[in-house]
Amino acid sequence: MTRVLEHVPLAPRTTLGVGGPARWLVRCAREADVLAAAELAHARGVPLLVLAGGSNLVVADEGVDAVVVSLELRGATFTDEADTARLDAGAGEPWDGVVAAAAQRGAAGIECLSGIPGLAGATPVQNVGAYGQEVSQTIERVRAIDPSTGAVHELHAEACGFGYRDSRFKREPGRLVVTSVRFRLPRRAPEAPSYAELARALGGRAAAPTLLDVREAVKELRRQKSMLAGGADENSRSCGSFFTNPVVDLATLATVESRAADPSLPRHPQPDGRVKLPAAWLIERAGLPRGARDGAVGLSTRHTLALVAHEGATAREVVRFARRVRATVEDRFGVRLVPEPVFWGFGSLDDGLPVG
Ligand SMILES: Cc1cc2nc3c(=O)[nH]c(=O)nc-3n(C[C@H](O)[C@H](O)[C@H](O)COP(=O)(O)OP(=O)(O)OC[C@H]3O[C@@H](n4cnc5c(N)ncnc54)[C@H](O)[C@@H]3O)c2cc1C
Repeated sequence: MTRVLEHVPLAPRTTLGVGGPARWLVRCAREADVLAAAELAHARGVPLLVLAGGSNLVVADEGVDAVVVSLELRGATFTDEADTARLDAGAGEPWDGVVAAAAQRGAAGIECLSGIPGLAGATPVQNVGAYGQEVSQTIERVRAIDPSTGAVHELHAEACGFGYRDSRFKREPGRLVVTSVRFRLPRRAPEAPSYAELARALGGRAAAPTLLDVREAVKELRRQKSMLAGGADENSRSCGSFFTNPVVDLATLATVESRAADPSLPRHPQPDGRVKLPAAWLIERAGLPRGARDGAVGLSTRHTLALVAHEGATAREVVRFARRVRATVEDRFGVRLVPEPVFWGFGSLDDGLPVG
């Protein structure tokens, strides 16, 4: 019998630590629990929302009139096949533990994703990435339930519609609940790091690092930026990066260049001819340095892209500050930043950010 909880505070279940309760919450350790939760949502006439580790989520102060599925489908199994390892991870398995196990077994391809908070089933949702790796590079297939029909789908990577911090799961929230993810990981040493910052952190080991070397170097870099899963310093109440790096066309790039009047503007050409710009650089050059703050909400003192909710902050204040950051960058450079986290219970959104 699936247990249904009522009026469950969501703030402690998110890394940002703000927001109100869920009207109903169902802890789901089996796919059948997800289906039971979907039936409950249907019977009550409210939406079904999926909660994993709560590290990419902003919940409104009023909470949500919804059935929230808390994903607790555990398990991570490795099967060696020729020169690769097949990894099957339950959606509720803590992601960093999965990465640690892969590195220990000599399975490559996700070691640069060490130290990212959240659960394995959420990684395909925004195609989690860091230091040159994205899960879309190693995901073989995703198992997901359609809560409206109860049908179970096995989606191969091509059917997931992956993009930069994007997928069909993100574009169509609520359509599919991911219950497990299969990765195909080559059993080999890591490639030489493509990120200069990571190469520097590896020091003398950069030419031929082991998977465990890369994992430790990435975790240390994350610790220095207060971007490590389970961190507990003054910047730890965040969703990680609050905005994605904008990918702009050449006309917009020309505008940014002329307004910035700074040849050091970093830019990363994309295969489609557009250019990715670092949101952190734009925010700082627009006049908001690390640690900039409005009351209980501000930018991390160690990472410009992380918005931190200090003691006493409300979700409304987080959104107000995010709107200020976006408006400041837009006024200065003509580029509109897009938020990375998902917003629950806010009503209408304006280019991804709640209105008001
Ligand atoms: C300190 C810090 C550092 C971070 N660094 C990075 C980084 O380097 N790279 C990066 O990409 N992200 C990063 N993030 C963001 C975040 O950790 C990832 O996006 C993570 O995958 C979210 O997982 P979660 O389990 O917390 O998901 P949640 O926050 O619980 O959910 C996020 C969204 O995904 C949906 N969802 C979650 N699980 C499922 C599922 N099984 N089926 C369907 N929908 C689902 C939810 O409904 C919600 O819309 C960071 C966050 C923090 C706090």
